[in-house]
Amino acid sequence: MSSSIVRGKYLVTKVIDSEKSQIIPDGALYQEDGEIIAVGSYSNIKAAHNPDQEIGSDSHLIIPGLVNAHHHIGLTPFQLGIPDMALEPWITARYGMRNVDPYLDTLYCAIQMIESGITTVMHNHGAGGTTNAADQVELGKQVLKGYEESGMRTAFSFMFRDQNNLVYQEDSDFITSLPSELGARAKKQVTPRPPSSAEYFDVFTELHQSFSNNNRINIFLAPGNVQWCSDEFFQAAKEYATRYKTGMHIHLQESVYQKIYGLRTWNKTPLAHLEDLGVLGPELSCAHGVWLNDSDIEILSRTGTIICHNASSNLRLKSGVAPLNRLVEMGVTVGIGIDEAGINDDNDMLQEMRLVQKIHRLPGVMAPSPTSHQILQMSTVNGAKATLFNSQVGTLEPGKRADIALINLRGITEPYLHPANNIIDSLVYRGRASDVDTVIVDGEVLMENKAMTKVNKNDVWTALKEHMNTPLTERERARAQLGRDLLPYVNNFYAQWNIQADRPFYSYNDMK
Ligand SMILES: [Zn+2]
Repeated sequence: MSSSIVRGKYLVTKVIDSEKSQIIPDGALYQEDGEIIAVGSYSNIKAAHNPDQEIGSDSHLIIPGLVNAHHHIGLTPFQLGIPDMALEPWITARYGMRNVDPYLDTLYCAIQMIESGITTVMHNHGAGGTTNAADQVELGKQVLKGYEESGMRTAFSFMFRDQNNLVYQEDSDFITSLPSELGARAKKQVTPRPPSSAEYFDVFTELHQSFSNNNRINIFLAPGNVQWCSDEFFQAAKEYATRYKTGMHIHLQESVYQKIYGLRTWNKTPLAHLEDLGVLGPELSCAHGVWLNDSDIEILSRTGTIICHNASSNLRLKSGVAPLNRLVEMGVTVGIGIDEAGINDDNDMLQEMRLVQKIHRLPGVMAPSPTSHQILQMSTVNGAKATLFNSQVGTLEPGKRADIALINLRGITEPYLHPANNIIDSLVYRGRASDVDTVIVDGEVLMENKAMTKVNKNDVWTALKEHMNTPLTERERARAQLGRDLLPYVNNFYAQWNIQADRPFYSYNDMK
């Protein structure tokens, strides 16, 4: 048995409502083998328990571990050579991204996430060039090996696509519209496709089986997005999710083009179409949801379907600003995700939380805006709901698993911070990854006083540097060239779409 007391100047056990969190001054918790046994004042907890270890001090803020509710890869697309563009051409330009060892890439990113107080991640992986089930299982195991070694809690899924791979149109139609030599290269890119839907479900069941005894890993299903998957695939994925009691994670209405695709194809929004298919519910979380309308938000609220908000990504890829204030008003569960990069290109969750809070502050004294408590709720409990770890984590209460971030208050409060400021405001207004100094998952310390305890950061950095310090392969070169050559045609394809939007949820200013 291993046990510890975790203490702080403030212990935040949970968010109560938009204006209040439960905070114990000079508080502490006692955990045994990863389970929180007791929470209270430090003096009471210390008097009642005799732990192996005491962690924290009277200059720490203790919060539930943060949940990054949408994530893909470690080295960012920009690090791999792809500057920000609008989402659709950016997807094409991504052909030029370098190949990265999935295990090292995961370790690299897990370290960054732990350093910013993230204890749980929703990891959504692309097919990574695999063309059969066995290779994809191996790829999944490499990523999960990285997470297991780091100690993070992970909801893992492979993203599936079975149509419209080049643009939001039948591949054969788009290929026909290209000059013949380019069309031939594009055709080669989309054939052979990654594992078929039958193979996809084989991969899912094998990974589900392999990690069924690991309480830090959930295996999810992930239809990529509505325009990328057939109705049959969505419904089959829903059946698997129900049978295996797991979750589904998708992208939804991220760009205006995705919304218009739904209106063109079904005469309704993609979300309304998903409701017709019967796949909505609390086990489904949808990344982005930028282009939701009022009726979509009502559907989300009624069905308990979750939105994972990605503010940085939506700005960087010119997707827009999601209607967070209306989602909150309608009681939709919203988590926060960094979507593999963030505004600083560095996976700093506290920075992302701050961006979410600030970008939804609309002009007008009576206009709604998210409070710091709501932002913390999104980054803890709501992310735990999206990853289906909510029975285990998200709050620091007896019976929950001990997933905890300790924030050193010095950087936030010194040289001076008015003592009347609410500590949750102080965290969301001023906190940075550099203030996080100790991170615990399941009672196990993953980072202590800023030093990683389970993985050697230097070794990972050195190995990754060496691994990337190789010339581009012929295949990488050819793929990058294809991306560059396709880009004008992809831009031209979408330029024909009429993106005249309806009245927006947000107006920051006026042209009149
Ligand atoms: Zn994404």
